[in-house]
Amino acid sequence: MKERVRPLIIGAGPAGIRAAEALVDAGIKPVVVDEAPLGGGQIYRQRIVPDERTARDLYGSEAGKATALHKTLAGLQDRIDYRPRTLAWNIRDNIADVMTDGRGGRIPFSHVILSTGATDRVLPIPGWTLPGVFTLGGAQIALKSQGCAIGEQIVFLGSGPLLYLVAWQYMKAGGHVAAVLDTAPLSAKFHLLRGLLLYPGIVVRGIRYVADLMARGVKVRFGIEPVRIEGDTQVKGLVWRDRGTDHHIACDAVGYGFALRSETQLADLAGCQFVFDKRDRAWQPVCDGAGRSSKPGIYLAGDGVRISGADSAELAGERAGLALIEDCGFPVDKVRIEVLERRLNRVQRFRGILEQAFPFPESLVRSLADDVLLCRCEEVSIGNVRSSAQKFDITDLNRLKALTRVGMGRCQGRVCGSGAAEILAHASGRSLEDVGRLRSQPPIKPLPLDLSSDGEAA
Ligand SMILES: Cc1cc2nc3c(=O)[nH]c(=O)nc-3n(C[C@H](O)[C@H](O)[C@H](O)COP(=O)(O)OP(=O)(O)OC[C@H]3O[C@@H](n4cnc5c(N)ncnc54)[C@H](O)[C@@H]3O)c2cc1C
Repeated sequence: MKERVRPLIIGAGPAGIRAAEALVDAGIKPVVVDEAPLGGGQIYRQRIVPDERTARDLYGSEAGKATALHKTLAGLQDRIDYRPRTLAWNIRDNIADVMTDGRGGRIPFSHVILSTGATDRVLPIPGWTLPGVFTLGGAQIALKSQGCAIGEQIVFLGSGPLLYLVAWQYMKAGGHVAAVLDTAPLSAKFHLLRGLLLYPGIVVRGIRYVADLMARGVKVRFGIEPVRIEGDTQVKGLVWRDRGTDHHIACDAVGYGFALRSETQLADLAGCQFVFDKRDRAWQPVCDGAGRSSKPGIYLAGDGVRISGADSAELAGERAGLALIEDCGFPVDKVRIEVLERRLNRVQRFRGILEQAFPFPESLVRSLADDVLLCRCEEVSIGNVRSSAQKFDITDLNRLKALTRVGMGRCQGRVCGSGAAEILAHASGRSLEDVGRLRSQPPIKPLPLDLSSDGEAA
């Protein structure tokens, strides 16, 4: 009976690994694919270049959790069909189209758990396409995975907990952090006092990051407005505005980002319904508290459905695994489910507080100059979007895409889509919800092709 259940898990981060563990515990063998060469997801990403660093050096206070998760995946190896370096680029009729090392393939499944995580939410600012500008997540990947820094004198800019964490990690690793520039005002941070009641350890750690940075002489500024990143062929400096006065700082690299956005394309291609989520400022797949999507057999877990952090992703992955087991008619531990759901609710309350402490800089959207590039794949500027919205009375993101090609290039809107929605909403006088979301198209990411003579075409 259980042999007929052939679940597929897409993503071997905290959510995917815990989902796999729950299935294996119930005697079910899932296929687990991840485009990364090693499991762990974003937060517990493993290094691809061997070096002397310990788990403590790599993951700081989360070293124990990282090691535990990596161990779980290693322990599951014989009881799951694990396929690293495998990108799922489409989903249709219970089949996932995949590509491993440049070779195409298909994985049929009876159920699927989408635990595809998130990427940085980017808002274009003048100079953001200069060599030397990275997203905060990208800067962290360089450090964690490859053991290298993005520059010798680095400015971190934006909003969200990752801003301070990445700056602190660079400082700890011996990097020179020139400044940390937060677009959220200091007053917003007082919301974190309420967070102390829910997760005191996390809040205190955050305060320690800021204190450590300041103690080492790093310039930390709140409520700033980025004016421009300067340079011709490489970042040379950055100008920001603080209470009406412009300031300049020399640097050769910038790490920036405004929190995260969920990777929802596969849920869209699978036909899941979406709903607008005010907190994440994005359309997200509909999902009940157990991880069930609007489509039977399709489950969602972790940051790929709602930005909630790594601890929540582990809980949500396990909960989705249990929902799948329950829906197949196999017994589940109801007490375990109750505990999981209670803990998940608690995390959600904390996420709401974080969102208030690190608000999205809406005023920046209004002040961005027309000549700033919005979609770099198709070279569409912000002015182009604004004038097209006026001229053709565009109120929908997909119509904007058809008329301007924004989001039509290699990134398929994964980088520019959220910024385009913000700019269009402002230019058309509509709400973010009203302008909708970009429809996903396969392949959801660029596909590398193996064109060697024995390589199978995708
Ligand atoms: C770059 C980055 C760095 C982060 N660093 C931190 C941090 O240091 N501390 C912190 O608290 N939070 C961090 N976060 C947030 C943190 O990643 C999440 O809260 C947590 O990792 C979510 O777990 P998850 O399992 O939902 O997703 P993830 O950990 O993102 O795992 C998703 C996995 O799915 C894989 N995947 C995605 N799409 C496909 C596909 N189509 N085919 C195959 N595989 C796919 C990815 O390779 C990835 O391994 C970071 C987020 C990002 C984007």
